[in-house]
Amino acid sequence: MSRTLHCAPVVVPVEGEPVRDGAVLADGDRIVAVGPRSEIDANGARVRDWPGVLLPGLVNAHTHLQYTDFADLATSGLPFALWIRTLTERRRAFGDAQWRESARRGVHEALRTGTTCVADVVTDAAVLPVLARSGLAGTAYVEVVGVVSARWPEVRARLAATLDAASSSVGVSPHALYSLGTDAARGAVALARERGLRLHPHLAETRDEGEYVTSGTGPFADFTRSIDMMFELLDGGSGRHPVDEADALGWLGPDAHVAHGVHVDAAGRATLRERGTAVALCVRSNAVLGAGDAPVAAYLAEGSPVAIGTDSRASSPSLDMIEEVRAVRELTVSQGFPPNGLSRRLVEAATIGGAYALGLADAGRLAPGGRADLAVFDVPTEGDPYDALVAHGAGRCVATVLGGRIVHRRVAS
Ligand SMILES: [Zn+2]
Repeated sequence: MSRTLHCAPVVVPVEGEPVRDGAVLADGDRIVAVGPRSEIDANGARVRDWPGVLLPGLVNAHTHLQYTDFADLATSGLPFALWIRTLTERRRAFGDAQWRESARRGVHEALRTGTTCVADVVTDAAVLPVLARSGLAGTAYVEVVGVVSARWPEVRARLAATLDAASSSVGVSPHALYSLGTDAARGAVALARERGLRLHPHLAETRDEGEYVTSGTGPFADFTRSIDMMFELLDGGSGRHPVDEADALGWLGPDAHVAHGVHVDAAGRATLRERGTAVALCVRSNAVLGAGDAPVAAYLAEGSPVAIGTDSRASSPSLDMIEEVRAVRELTVSQGFPPNGLSRRLVEAATIGGAYALGLADAGRLAPGGRADLAVFDVPTEGDPYDALVAHGAGRCVATVLGGRIVHRRVAS
């Protein structure tokens, strides 16, 4: 592959200050230089002149691309417990070919909106080849869900075979504290760590989850009983907050990041921070499912590692990360966080914050040696580029470069 100089009125490397009249020189799938266009020796390189702001491809730190075709569920207005029951039922009617088609549509929506790296939760291993072929950076977290302890040995063998056969980066997602027996909850983590794989569970998403984990009662208890999943927590709960229970099960650590983190108090946030565990915020999904508002202002003020995810189309209006960032910003401001500099913090969360969550050194930033994954947004270039991206970037991704190749290109409307 030849060398290409990608130029834009503003280049935001994320690490380091924005560069006016900037450029990124890519050689094959790698970045070789970033800086003012006039200072880069691009002799012989093909030149691409983009409008607006160019930044690293965005990192979607929590999604389920295989649920892209379940978008009608996001507008169903169902409360969480009923929503997950409906999702579980709908799943039965889907086969491998449909999952792959749905995941493919998700990949395209991600690329069209400037996302080049994903933490994708994979419930059906049939979609793994779709993700591998997509070229997206990131990790497919193979999910363990709805497994009582007695079934764990059989599920373990299947999971181990899936992980060992994967041709691209995989991790393990123990789904949630309310959907696993103790042996599965502990065993999934052990299996991942034996292989040096990363973890990505859902945690503290709803108040009902808290009630179930602490005392074994409420809508989740009714649901699990109704589908005959007799988990240990049904017997009086753990007496612990979800974060403490996750910690006790070994789910937290610098090799893990959690999705949601909505119902987490100061002590829980401190635990996550001490473990080096990032939280992937999914505030639009939380709003759709009535899950509550994540304490984003507190996470930021306390210096917790945060990333941003859209969650799946089954609970989110889109996979557009900038739309998600804008919603996170609105929520954070409503919680009293100073708006000055906030857009920058959140664009960082959607780039290097996500890379940290996934344990990736070469994503979410523009730097020599890193992957040539870029996103270009046709937004105003006067003033603060972070504010411009967050306020105007949704739906305005005009180019996405993945591993040095232009995979999406659109004339601005
Ligand atoms: Zn999720």
